[in-house]
Amino acid sequence: MTRLTRREFLRRSGQAALGLGIASQLAWPIGCSDGSSFGPSEAAWRDLAASLQGMLLRPGDPGYALTGLPTNLAFVGIRPQGIVLSAGPADVKTSVGFAREHGLPAVARSGGHSYAGYSTTPGLLVDLSLMDTIKIDPSEGIADIGAGALLDAVDNVVAPFDITVPAARCATVGIAGLLLGGGFGFSARKFGLTSDNLVRTQIVTADGELRNCNERENPDLYWACRGGGGGNFGINVAFQVSTHPVSTVSVYRLKWGVKDDLAAAWSAMQDVAFTAPDDFSLRLGITINEEGPLPGASNELMTALGQFFGPAVELRDLLAPVFDAAPPKRSTIEELSFADATIFLELQDTPDAFLTKSAYMSGPLPDQGIATVLDFIRRFPPDSRDGNFHIFTWGGEINRVPPDATAFVHRSAAFLVESDSSWHTDDPQSVVDASKDWIEEFFDSMQPFFTGSAYQNFMDPTLVEWQSAYYGANFPRLVDVKRTYDPDNFFNLAQSIPTQI
Ligand SMILES: Cc1cc2nc3c(=O)[nH]c(=O)nc-3n(C[C@H](O)[C@H](O)[C@H](O)COP(=O)(O)OP(=O)(O)OC[C@H]3O[C@@H](n4cnc5c(N)ncnc54)[C@H](O)[C@@H]3O)c2cc1C
Repeated sequence: MTRLTRREFLRRSGQAALGLGIASQLAWPIGCSDGSSFGPSEAAWRDLAASLQGMLLRPGDPGYALTGLPTNLAFVGIRPQGIVLSAGPADVKTSVGFAREHGLPAVARSGGHSYAGYSTTPGLLVDLSLMDTIKIDPSEGIADIGAGALLDAVDNVVAPFDITVPAARCATVGIAGLLLGGGFGFSARKFGLTSDNLVRTQIVTADGELRNCNERENPDLYWACRGGGGGNFGINVAFQVSTHPVSTVSVYRLKWGVKDDLAAAWSAMQDVAFTAPDDFSLRLGITINEEGPLPGASNELMTALGQFFGPAVELRDLLAPVFDAAPPKRSTIEELSFADATIFLELQDTPDAFLTKSAYMSGPLPDQGIATVLDFIRRFPPDSRDGNFHIFTWGGEINRVPPDATAFVHRSAAFLVESDSSWHTDDPQSVVDASKDWIEEFFDSMQPFFTGSAYQNFMDPTLVEWQSAYYGANFPRLVDVKRTYDPDNFFNLAQSIPTQI
């Protein structure tokens, strides 16, 4: 394996910064110093650097600030003492051994999209972004994906084969974090969660061993890697995932404005989704941004977005009750190649500071719930950045898997709910507090309509009873697996699986 040169690294990280459009938002001065006094000696860091195929970045090194930046800028103040840009499993093993030897916390990062900032640390950050090779075996229908691959790279590699790996719509989410905590997108009702499609994975555990996990080898760890959540059992270095043939699909985007009957539109849209075949998927959302739903605003507040594995004419028939109940202000319904549909549905996000909450619903939101949503959206604090409430169709292939067959327990819901509020990193504390208070109060008011569960990939650091909310009846078995593979609780986050209940 060739070593990564500093020039190549700087070229890559510079491109990433431009791609994300975040260079101007960078809260860390390039070349900042951590200034912390705990940790290994400088000689130990030098030895680590010399033993890597990849690269070690320390505070002050070119590229350190950008590489260490989490997607959720609410956690931008946490600065790793070192960042290992791993070039392969050997670097991951070396990093785990180094962190253990020096008593440093270590966390893995793939796409860096943890809502709760769990892929940053004041210790050692094990960055996998260079381990992003994707290989397709068309005869077996398997994609072999390096743990550092981002979803747009996976989509781009599989598309020429007319196949898909069921994943999510955000281009820059990492396959590793997504898959380990489940992973849903517009194809999940048809092909299952990303984790349901995992055939094998390789993981470096806390003892530094590289283990293969599948139905026969380390089956308990294989079970836990399908929904048990990232950062718990080790550092996965690769995933072998089933692919599915795809051709043409239909997509739709409907938009309603401030003056439309949003309650009628919401109700009709979710009713259609609730009874639609598995070929149909929906993300229904209402957004208020800093322009606000006030006079002079963009006037588009509510969006239904989705995909249908079938012709556009059938999709139009399915959506007809929505057009009857509350005609959208704008609508697009079209047939596209699967690759173009992926682009149509894609989300290109930029890092910001936010708090996200999730929940599940067993059926459509009743009128009282819709009224509560509209009331809170209109009361979003005016100085905050934006607030959202979304529901996503669940069910289909997702719910055909028994809740204990893998670590992913949420197998009976009709809709997943996600809501967030965000603020600017330079906002005064009063604005940050108002944003957080808004979402807390909003979610409290909505509890009567929710099941009590939450999605472990939408980690909410404020959630108190996260063990039952994320993992339900699978939690005790996850604790057993943790005790087997990480008895010292080396991989340890605020909401990671403990070694004891
Ligand atoms: C804008 C945005 C859109 C999203 N859209 C969707 C969506 O449509 N569907 C969906 O299901 N989810 C979605 N998510 C949530 C996403 O699935 C989770 O945030 C996921 O954990 C991100 O994975 P990552 O690799 O990018 O994140 P990271 O922050 O790198 O990792 C997340 C967690 O996994 C751990 N981890 C990372 N890599 C490894 C590894 N190789 N081995 C072991 N542990 C590891 C980290 O330590 C951390 O605890 C979205 C998130 C964002 C920010």
